[in-house]
Amino acid sequence: MAIGEFDLIARYFDRCVIRDDILLGIGDDAALVRPPAQADLAIATDTLVAGVHFDAGTPPRAIGHKALAVNLSDLAAMGAEPAGALLALTLPAADEAWLCAFADGFHALAARHGVALIGGDTCRGPLAITVTVLGWTPRGTGLRRAGARPGDALYASGTLGDAGLALALGEGVTPAIRERLHRPEPRVALGCALRDIASAAIDVSDGLLADLGHVLAASGVGATLDLDALPLSDALRMARDPQAAVHLALTGGDDYELLFSVAEARVGEVTGAAQRSGTPVTRIGTICADAGIGYRSAQGLRSPARAGGYQHF
Ligand code: ADP
Ligand code: MG
Repeated sequence: MAIGEFDLIARYFDRCVIRDDILLGIGDDAALVRPPAQADLAIATDTLVAGVHFDAGTPPRAIGHKALAVNLSDLAAMGAEPAGALLALTLPAADEAWLCAFADGFHALAARHGVALIGGDTCRGPLAITVTVLGWTPRGTGLRRAGARPGDALYASGTLGDAGLALALGEGVTPAIRERLHRPEPRVALGCALRDIASAAIDVSDGLLADLGHVLAASGVGATLDLDALPLSDALRMARDPQAAVHLALTGGDDYELLFSVAEARVGEVTGAAQRSGTPVTRIGTICADAGIGYRSAQGLRSPARAGGYQHF
């Protein structure tokens, strides 16, 4: 027999996660959340639509992971510690094998970050997943896009361009690179470690140039990028010549790394933050007063003619 709406919620989504700040989770008309003293609420939402954000071949476990991961990445970019999530699911059918795998991917990531699933909505329609996340930052410490100042050092976490490579390679991709596209790791620990250090931060979802552009516009500054310094994975270096690899690192989306600026006086603290959070970071450039993005490369690498970045409309 087909599973009903309430059984479906109870079986796949109603998990008990005990947190002091969650008074009431799934099962009532709304969740009740009690903010910690002296905390600011960071709240973000992101939708994944079948055929737009992922294709039919994507494993449901990866979809469950990614629906939460892209949201936790937004909290990471604010320096917020995640607390709770809401899940609005639109499903073409109550396919239990699909639901079981999707829920596994979602809950495994939620458990690793101590996130409580505190509510949501379930309805029938074309497959789409909207997740809303709540997190906390100590009052006044949230990281914004608008704080970059001329002279600040510019950093990126992890490696760039791997998810773009996975998309470009399609079926021919290695498992490790496919993971970068399907199972991005939100840089939550790094974001929290950067609260008192970074002057601005953003997560790289649309591509380095596109997201750097958002920071520069919000801060009213420009930047110089050192193309020789871009952090590239061994897999990307092997798969592409240096120029094509740099192009992917600059324009490929879906990496979910953090891009952040740090005042020169605080650059010495970045290594400690990277170590505490277990996240590699690389200096990739410098913020300057003149608008726009300039490029440097001793190796003769070039920037793409157009920055691009994915836009829905
Ligand atoms: P209402 O009619 O008041 O909107 P629902 O019947 O939609 O309530 O949901 C019942 C409970 O289950 C609520 O607490 C809601 O937040 C939760 N819920 C519904 N769908 C989901 C889901 N996909 N994931 C998590 N919680 C859900
Ligand atoms: Mg409802």
